[in-house]
Amino acid sequence: MSPAPSARPHLAHNKGGRATVVVVGGGFGGLAVVRALRRLPVRTVLVDQNNYHQFTPLLYQVATSLLDPPEIAQPLRAIIRKVRNAEFFLGAVDSIDLERRTVHTSDGALAYDYLVLAAGSTTNFFGNASAEALGFGLKTVDDALNLRNRILMQYEAAKWADDDAARDRLMTFAVIGGGPTGVECSGALAEIDRVLAKDFREMATAGARVHLLEGSDRLLAPFAPHLRAAANRRLTRMGVTIHLNAHVTEVRPDGVALADGSFISAATVIWAAGVQAAPISATLGAKLGRQNAVEVEQTLQLAGHPEVFVIGDMAAFTAEGSQLPMLAPVAMQQGAVAAANIGQLLSGQTLARFHFVDKGIMATVGRNSAVVQAGRLKVHGFAGWLAWLGIHLLLIVSLESKLQTIASWAYNYLFFDRPLRLIIRPSDRRPTVSAPLVIKRVIVAKPRSPRRKSGV
Ligand SMILES: Cc1cc2nc3c(=O)[nH]c(=O)nc-3n(C[C@H](O)[C@H](O)[C@H](O)COP(=O)(O)OP(=O)(O)OC[C@H]3O[C@@H](n4cnc5c(N)ncnc54)[C@H](O)[C@@H]3O)c2cc1C
Repeated sequence: MSPAPSARPHLAHNKGGRATVVVVGGGFGGLAVVRALRRLPVRTVLVDQNNYHQFTPLLYQVATSLLDPPEIAQPLRAIIRKVRNAEFFLGAVDSIDLERRTVHTSDGALAYDYLVLAAGSTTNFFGNASAEALGFGLKTVDDALNLRNRILMQYEAAKWADDDAARDRLMTFAVIGGGPTGVECSGALAEIDRVLAKDFREMATAGARVHLLEGSDRLLAPFAPHLRAAANRRLTRMGVTIHLNAHVTEVRPDGVALADGSFISAATVIWAAGVQAAPISATLGAKLGRQNAVEVEQTLQLAGHPEVFVIGDMAAFTAEGSQLPMLAPVAMQQGAVAAANIGQLLSGQTLARFHFVDKGIMATVGRNSAVVQAGRLKVHGFAGWLAWLGIHLLLIVSLESKLQTIASWAYNYLFFDRPLRLIIRPSDRRPTVSAPLVIKRVIVAKPRSPRRKSGV
């Protein structure tokens, strides 16, 4: 292995003999870092704006009433409980002072010797203000619960609608983006309709309509042609109307306008058209790649700052001439390499270059069907779904969540039902009490403003 450009050891201003590694983001990448650092003589501080890790591939199942948040999200404190050199800090990072090696958060500032940025990505509305204002994203547990409430409320409203046209509009969902998230969401929406039809059996109309809109000429672009064709056939059979080469120009309260002048009437628009790197990427003054991700060296370091590593969705890592996609395995593998490279810096040895091992891609298309592409293995239908099921169960973080998820999937599979149909709208608007923080050893500044959850 040839030496990396910034392989020279960095002298850490460590405390008590141990360097402090601050890891921003407790997602797939950040957790891989924390776990791998357990073997090193460092003190790790994991910072996240939420106190939980979320398993994004199953968010669409929360949105469509199949799973509840605890089945796809686990408390970060519980996950890192056994990692003895790791602590958790709850706070939203808003800026980083690279010169002073300080991370500024909503609840104070943290000094670091080494920094790993793994804050992931946010929904990309591509500058379309109407989509941002009216479209439903699907990137967080909050998004999934908002969408779930919206879906259930549309059914309630449709039940009492004055006329058929109003009822049809309320019961029509437009999903923008024909990648895995859009395809999975469309399939699940078509299914939830079959379940809710039992509760709303007296309704005159045939039920919900689902439109899936994709700007290019194909769904699931990275998949092999026969897998894409299988997904198309399956979605169509489920009643999803697929629109290819459909460029959305405006989202309106009553539907979406397309570049060709047509209009699709839909009261709910789900925006699954893409993501971009977390906003802190743009505050670093670094060169940005596609989707606003931070360009990193082959060792995952930030140019000019060998003590800073950027990984996962936040990182624009170029391999064989193209930027790696924003996927969980990329983030996890990069997390392990970033942690190993911190070890190399500590011991003054040459850093490793990152090489991505592609283990494949997959997407569900309805209740018991999926497309799976892993090396030479290309399967679809029920066989694909079994593969999807096994792999996702392996990846879910805790045993408790695995068991809960198996139970929910089995119930859904056997009874074709969705048990989670409560519309819960939190209404507590009291201000959050924010006590002055004293954080031993790490904190270097007092909170700049109290954290406000409810906007009161
Ligand atoms: C709906 C959906 C489905 C997906 N399905 C798949 C799939 O099937 N397979 C796959 O490989 N990939 C999938 N992905 C992509 C995958 O989720 C990401 O590539 C992966 O999560 C990236 O890992 P990460 O560690 O970079 O970021 P994340 O896992 O997103 O973690 C980022 C963490 O940073 C925290 N954070 C963000 N900003 C701040 C801040 N300012 N301060 C403090 N904390 C912050 C967040 O709370 C979060 O915990 C999916 C994504 C979505 C949205």
